[in-house]
Amino acid sequence: MNANDLTLLARAEVRELASYNAGLAADAVRKRFGLTRVAKLGSNENPMGTAPAVNAATTQACHEIALYPDSGCQALRSALSEKLDVPEDRFVFGNGSEDLLSVISRVFLDHDDEVVTVVPSFGLHFIFPVAAGARVIGVPMTDQGTFDVAAMISALTPHTHVLMFSCPSNPVGCTLSAIELKQLLDALPPKCLLVFDEAYYEYAQWEPEYPDCLGLIQASGKPFILLRTFSKAYSLAGLRIGYGIVSDPLLADLINRLRTPFNVNRVAQAAAVAALADENHLNAGLSHVASERRRLEIALQEQGITTAPSMANFLFFSTPYPAEVINQALLREGVIIKPWREAGYTQYLRVSIGSCEDNDLFLHSLARVLAAQETRTD
Ligand SMILES: *Cc1c(COP(=O)(O)O)cnc(C)c1O
Repeated sequence: MNANDLTLLARAEVRELASYNAGLAADAVRKRFGLTRVAKLGSNENPMGTAPAVNAATTQACHEIALYPDSGCQALRSALSEKLDVPEDRFVFGNGSEDLLSVISRVFLDHDDEVVTVVPSFGLHFIFPVAAGARVIGVPMTDQGTFDVAAMISALTPHTHVLMFSCPSNPVGCTLSAIELKQLLDALPPKCLLVFDEAYYEYAQWEPEYPDCLGLIQASGKPFILLRTFSKAYSLAGLRIGYGIVSDPLLADLINRLRTPFNVNRVAQAAAVAALADENHLNAGLSHVASERRRLEIALQEQGITTAPSMANFLFFSTPYPAEVINQALLREGVIIKPWREAGYTQYLRVSIGSCEDNDLFLHSLARVLAAQETRTD
């Protein structure tokens, strides 16, 4: 079969999809540009690494990998239930929260169902709903890089089946205030499911202004799935484990019907339980990111670059040049960040908050790259 015929084997929705922009591995960049030092600031990973207790737990779990994992993630379920004061039957677990986004899209979305999200967006908030045949409406953020709550409310109609977005926003970093979240909750049509992706929750709750979104959403009485992950603040990105909190056990039951029964592996479950228990390690990472984020904001400001307000472990900014050009020049300097590709945002880049040394490498490299661009265009 030729390429065209092979493509036609796929469903129409899949043929049209763009592939996910997953970012480069540090090793690939090292090899391609002959570098020894690389700052990997493209995937919002935690520079502190895992808690010491996680290493012990994963080693122990590795002795038992001949056995299937617990399909119900019971140990983690109990620990989370206690920590968050949420009943055990309100949790669902995924092979990363990305897995849950995929399952949720297949469980709740049908052809021509309407989904509202925001732009710029987390790619999978488009890709999975579109693959399920849904029509996705992206509401742009304001020019200041904040949620345009009025526009989001206007986009909701009696036909809106799902409202799905991340707060703090990935890639922008902005959050909703308690008042804004309440307005949005009040405006939800009666048969609309809220998918509230709180992947950066731990970073945001470190800031006193961040509202108790889970509490507010629960109090609304609306149907919801709130997603969190162990990939970001808990440093377990390589193991793949995330969870959802649902408004009703029936939603968990529906999700469990379509997930693969052993979607969360044994080592990841053990690691998550250990990571959850080590609050000191978590807080050290949160404190580091908060202070480095402020330092980066100021240093970028001094380079004439304004960043969107962020409560997450990354900053979103634009330069006068195409993001892809800046990205390629930074890669040659050993700095991996994420150039944005969505229409209207192709001069924007997202940089993760890394170690002090990696952040310095980024700042100095960016200054050099921008100066070189300026002389080129003069
Ligand atoms: C990183 C991220 C996730 C996915 O994390 P997993 O590694 O799959 O748990 C989900 N949503 C947003 C907005 C993210 O940035």
